[in-house]
Amino acid sequence: MPINTEELLKILACPICLGDLALLERDGETGFACETCRVVYPVKDDIPVMLQEEAIPRDTWDNTGTCAKS
Ligand SMILES: [Zn+2]
Repeated sequence: MPINTEELLKILACPICLGDLALLERDGETGFACETCRVVYPVKDDIPVMLQEEAIPRDTWDNTGTCAKS
């Protein structure tokens, strides 16, 4: 059963700044973005990885998505 990302967004907060997160989707991948910290927390195997060490810089997320495919 897929996770209900809308519900998770209400519950989860950025572990760095404790701010709200925004849902991001790219090419079958899902992530929770913190606009304040400019990072994306990836969702792996339907589990959001809410760890500062695992956060992907927003620029990296954007640049490795569909548009970056050659
Ligand atoms: Zn944050």
